[in-house]
Amino acid sequence: MSERRDHPVLLVATQNRGKILEIKELLHDLRFKLKTLLDYPDLAPAVEDGTTFQENAIKKAVYYQALTGLICLADDSGLEVDALGGAPGVFSARFAGDKATDELNNRKLLKEMQGVPLKDRKARFCCFMAIALPTGEVKIAKGSCEGIILDSLQGEKGFGYDPLFFYPPAGKTFAQMSPEEKNRYSHRAKALLEAKNILQGILT
Ligand code: IMP
Repeated sequence: MSERRDHPVLLVATQNRGKILEIKELLHDLRFKLKTLLDYPDLAPAVEDGTTFQENAIKKAVYYQALTGLICLADDSGLEVDALGGAPGVFSARFAGDKATDELNNRKLLKEMQGVPLKDRKARFCCFMAIALPTGEVKIAKGSCEGIILDSLQGEKGFGYDPLFFYPPAGKTFAQMSPEEKNRYSHRAKALLEAKNILQGILT
């Protein structure tokens, strides 16, 4: 992480180490000092009760901006599975309940998709990012990525639903990719590219 003293701080509002790794990889060359919620362990968590990714991203960014006074980037992301009517969607992190883990969420997804034929296993990861500025302005960036839900876990890298998300153009799951490779295709990488342009504009 850059620690150059004259650069403004950008607070990336997440504690998810998988997301932090991907975001840092893509934003490391920006003229911001990147901080995450891991650097601010005493902040009370934002309430994520929105009904869309965009609503939740805005809520988080505005909340942490107000608490810290910093420029704040928050993302809300998740998986939409066509055969499940778009679920787990905004409930992706808690698909298997309040105490859900990645393993339990994946197990639940496998169960719900049991018997669904290949042609109906389409899904997409979606990512919305909100950048809240001290002026009160909020800017939005977004990205999505289409794939197929497998019937068994493949790969050990990444996080969340990565081992079940097969990305046809690469012929493998997101969990079979290094962070650099996943960043070539992912919903978050696409949203971050847009976010990066916005952040560059703020600096000029
Ligand atoms: P959030 O932290 O509220 O945005 O929750 C996002 C949830 O969606 C995560 O906990 C994962 O379950 C899932 N998710 C989002 N992005 C990814 C990804 O890149 N790979 C795998 N799962 C993801």
